[in-house]
Amino acid sequence: MTIRDEMKKRRTFAIISHPDAGKTTITEKMLLFGNLIRSAGTVKGKKSGKFATSDWMEIEKQRGISVTSSVMNFPYKDYQVNILDTPGHEDFSEDTYRTLTAVDSVVMVIDATKGIEAQTLKLFKVCKMRGIPIFTFINKMDREGREPLELMEEIESTLNIETYPMTWPAGMGKRFLGVFDRHNEQFVQYTGNEEEMYIPYDELENHKELTEDATYQEAEGEMLLVDEAGDGFDLEKVMKGDQTPVFFGSALAPFGVETFFNTFIDFAPEPAPRRSTEGIVSPDQEEFSGFIFKIQANMNPQHRDRIAFVRICSGKFERGMNVTLSRTGKTFKLAQSQQFVASSRGTVEEGYAGDIIGIYDPNIYRIGDTIVTGKQNFEYDELPQFPPELFKKVTAKNVMKSKQFKKGLEQLVQEGAIQLFKRYRFEDYIIGAVGELQYEVFEYRMKNEYNVEVELTSMGERIPRWIPEEQVDESMFDERNMLAVDREGLPLVLFKNDFSLRWFKDKHEDIELIDLFEVN
Ligand code: GDP
Repeated sequence: MTIRDEMKKRRTFAIISHPDAGKTTITEKMLLFGNLIRSAGTVKGKKSGKFATSDWMEIEKQRGISVTSSVMNFPYKDYQVNILDTPGHEDFSEDTYRTLTAVDSVVMVIDATKGIEAQTLKLFKVCKMRGIPIFTFINKMDREGREPLELMEEIESTLNIETYPMTWPAGMGKRFLGVFDRHNEQFVQYTGNEEEMYIPYDELENHKELTEDATYQEAEGEMLLVDEAGDGFDLEKVMKGDQTPVFFGSALAPFGVETFFNTFIDFAPEPAPRRSTEGIVSPDQEEFSGFIFKIQANMNPQHRDRIAFVRICSGKFERGMNVTLSRTGKTFKLAQSQQFVASSRGTVEEGYAGDIIGIYDPNIYRIGDTIVTGKQNFEYDELPQFPPELFKKVTAKNVMKSKQFKKGLEQLVQEGAIQLFKRYRFEDYIIGAVGELQYEVFEYRMKNEYNVEVELTSMGERIPRWIPEEQVDESMFDERNMLAVDREGLPLVLFKNDFSLRWFKDKHEDIELIDLFEVN
């Protein structure tokens, strides 16, 4: 097969959701389709909220690498599927966001009983900003949830995206009958066991007890309404992230997951061309290229090595090949490379655009680095910074260690482990992170790699807003709404909460507050 054929088979995506919406359960079902695990329920470690229990976790544990994400790959039908985990719960961190820079599409899982929740919204915003195609699975239809029409409405108004129901549910909870599969023109009947019954629309007349059910008729009525009043399916819009195809089902039953997955996998995009400093790079070009979206440091001092996660963007990767790190121009051999699977962690011999490989990092890579082969040296677009939410003041416990402290701080910031700020016109260091995990890793690594114990004082959650230099007036700010500068020296305000932010806006209408994370 040619590079182009291989590339066209790749489906690389992440599942985004709020904790407990059913991401793990649905992932397990997908792995079952790929015959990757024999029975569901083996993927997740008890209550850990991570993909676990496998050898891979054992290896991680023994070697002390913190698992903040994983990648699963398996063949399905004619496709090669790569699923990237987006850790939530206490593992939510900037890495969770950065993972979204390495995928070609996203599956958004929503709990039908809850609707859009906080973490879904945050992750959705990143997808929307980057124009990533989003497919929605509304889960837990086996429970009494919100009305489907109301859920559609909520997605459209909260997320500002068009919806197109690919399937439409008939009933929910105890009255759940199944879904109309609008795309394949069939009714998928929920039988209560794992078998899904498919009834083509033109055979429905032979299923009177179904079609005469009041719940069925009500759903049919709703669907007609959606047909008439809703937006038509528009693949072009879907590919731009302006419309999301919506599916209903239950990951636990399981029901509707297969219908969803089959349609999703056909519509989900293959790896797209990417922008670089030398113009657009096509995924099927001969020369290999990729970028690093995540670096996993080994927390065990005996094993200082790290693993860099590379998203392949073009060409063919072969183990032992020579690559050039664009930032430094240095060439070296990629001898140790790994592929990630839920159940094992094997050595990877080759890879194509869309695939994720882990390479051994003797402390030379940075997040966002591009590696290439061939004559042309180029770099992919810089990875965006994601606004932190949690802020802490940081000092060295021992003032005699300020040199190591600064060095460690600088390196960890450069690596993207945390973000650094300073109080305006002071030398006080403030660090910002997306999640608590980043602080744990930071503290640990400062101690083990730089031999500095740090003192962290929480400032709580803050809302950062950048302001134009010329509008800075120190008298307007205090401890509650603290004036600070970022790494580049640009001023920003760390607002105590939403209320403070609104109050400030009302009082100082002329001051421009910039939200780096705004989507419209
Ligand atoms: P995650 O935190 O998003 O990975 O969610 P999990 O997959 O771990 O699911 C959270 C809880 O919801 C678990 O107890 C699941 O058994 C349950 N769950 C997941 N999908 C469904 C579903 O379709 N119906 C019902 N009733 N429960 C579900």
